[in-house]
Formats: sequence, C-alpha cells, structure tokens
Amino acid sequence: MSRFLRCGFDFRKTLGRLVVGVACASLAVMALLSVANAASAATGAASPEVQKSLRVYFVDVEGGQATLFVTPEGQSLLIDTGWDGNGGRDADRIVAAAKSAGLTKIDYVLITHFHEDHVGGAPQLAARFPIGTFIDHGGNRETGDAPTVQGWQAYQAMLATGKYTRISAKPGDVVPIEGMHVEVISSDGDLIAKPLAGAGEENPACKESEPRPADKTENLRSLGTLITFGKLRLLDLGDLTWDKEMELMCPVNKLGHVDVYIVSHHGWQQSSSPALVWAIAPRVAIMDNGAKKGGTPSTWDIIEKSPHLENLWQVHYSEEGGAAHNVAAEFIANSQGTDAGNYLELIGYADGGFDMFNSRTQETKKYPAR
Ligand SMILES: [Zn+2]
Repeated sequence: MSRFLRCGFDFRKTLGRLVVGVACASLAVMALLSVANAASAATGAASPEVQKSLRVYFVDVEGGQATLFVTPEGQSLLIDTGWDGNGGRDADRIVAAAKSAGLTKIDYVLITHFHEDHVGGAPQLAARFPIGTFIDHGGNRETGDAPTVQGWQAYQAMLATGKYTRISAKPGDVVPIEGMHVEVISSDGDLIAKPLAGAGEENPACKESEPRPADKTENLRSLGTLITFGKLRLLDLGDLTWDKEMELMCPVNKLGHVDVYIVSHHGWQQSSSPALVWAIAPRVAIMDNGAKKGGTPSTWDIIEKSPHLENLWQVHYSEEGGAAHNVAAEFIANSQGTDAGNYLELIGYADGGFDMFNSRTQETKKYPAR
C-alpha cells in the first residue's frame, strides 16, 4: 500500500466535511489495516502508515513562497501564492498540489506580506481554484515600491469582489483551521510579547548575532506562524528580517525548539540569524530558494551549523552557493540548470515524526519521532 492512498473525496459533495473526514479516515484505516494485517502476519510488525498525517507541499515558485498544508480531515492552509505573470505558472503549480492532495477548495490563504513573490499569484490562483478566506497583516506599508503597490492593488481588487472572507491577524491570534494549531507569531512589525508555553530560556546565540539596522520594507511586516500538529512543530516567518528575529529571540527564546524550520526569506542573508536558527534548533530546514534567488552562502552556513540539524532541504540548487554551499543532490528538488517545477513534500505525524519526499527522485526519507 502506498502512502498515496486517496480517500473517496466524492463523498465530500454529499456528506459534508466532518462526516467525510471520518468516512475517509475509516476507509483509509480499513484499507491500511487489511494490508498491515497481511504484512504483520508475515513480519510480526504493525504498519506505521496507519497514523493520520499532515501533508505539507513546498511548491516550486522559483524563489517565491507557496507552502500548502492539508490536515488529515482535508482542511487546508496555503501560505503565499508565488509570483504573478509567467502565464499563471505558479498558480498552476499550486493547483496541481491541491488536486494531488484531493482538495476541491483551499480553505485559508495566508499572505505573509505584500511583496510580489508572495501575493503576486493570488488573483491567478483565485481565478483557477476555489478559496475560502484570506489572512494578512493589514495594509501595504511599502507604498513607494511600484511592484509592491501593483501586487497590493490587485489583491485589493480581488477582495473587493466580495467572494472571500478576509482576516487581518495580530500576534497571538490563532487561525481558525481545524486539525492543526496555527498561532500568529509576527504581524505588521509586531511580535508576541511573551514566550510560548514551555519556552523562555535565555538564548546564548544572541551573542553570535550582530545587531543590524531595522528593515524598512514589507519584509519585517511578515505574518509569521508556528504550526503545531500533535507534537510536531513547524515555523514559518515569511521573509521576517534579522532585526525582528533578534527582537523576537533575545534575550530569551520566545519560541522554544521546533522540528521544522521553513527557512525565512528563501535563504537570503537578510534573515536566519544564529539567534533565531540555533535557538529553535530544527531537525530539518526547508529552503524555498530559486536557482538565482536566496541560498546565500553565509546563511547556508548558519543553518548547517544549527545544533540539532539532521538535514537541510532545498527547492532549488543555488547558483550562488556553488559546490561548497549546496546540499547533496538527494536533498534538492530542482537540480542545476533545470526548471521542472519539482516539489518537496513533508508528511507529518502527531507523534512528532515526519517523512520528507522529493518529487524529483521519488525517494522518501524518514525522521522518526525522538
Ligand atoms: Zn520573498
């Protein structure tokens, strides 16, 4: 039995989500149990695939962001929409991931900030696929940058159709999605005031991070979230900049450890200070870089030196990184010189374990719960 077993999503049209979730889960569990029983009869071992999983697609949008979360019950959250233009390339890739996950609608689309590599693809996506609610940090704060203003205006025009619900979120808010916990850490330049439960230890990596001047763009406005699925913790701060990371993480670590760090700002040197990366101490970091965007060598070094890191994964080979600052080929979705739109997928389990799948190699690496 492959992990690509799909539920009967046609049920959804007639029974509603809750019933479907149960029906799907039951069907899947029944199918898997029958296989597991056969397997355990042969090996004496139960199949670990019986666990319900969170699925996270790291769609290749060529140096922008588009990260799709799908809960076991079929609720969905997309963080950012890639770029505008290119004949709808990024929207098409997001739709392909959504359909692969069995979705007929994306429940929530979270726009981290109003730069064109994050909000640009929203109108094209909305033209192709049903969306429920948009979540953002409020208004565009970078009114002197023409591409940002253009992306913001297109987003506003789309909201003005009245087809969508819109939520502007503040730190401490929780996205009303079921099946996983999504807490807002940063928004519009504001940060959570107090450490999260279990966090708040002094952060020795603050000494290793030089202070930097305050960013003046939309980047520091990024709507950042901590996503929890059972014991599994994933951090996504959009393009939040170094100065805000230090404010968030010094002198005490307000986040605690995470399992997965979705690398801020495509692995560009304006983000990923040691104060952030070494303190959250991820097992895996996933970098949504493009061939020629992000993946700065100094940032790559900081991530690779993180104390508990098992692997860094890259959506693209980084041209700037060259031979010395790229991970081994098996951890890269798009090799040097190609633009195949390959994606990475994380399959997360409530016990804290997860798998990483590379659509280029078709290989899966397991990270069992610790
Ligand atoms: Zn960006």
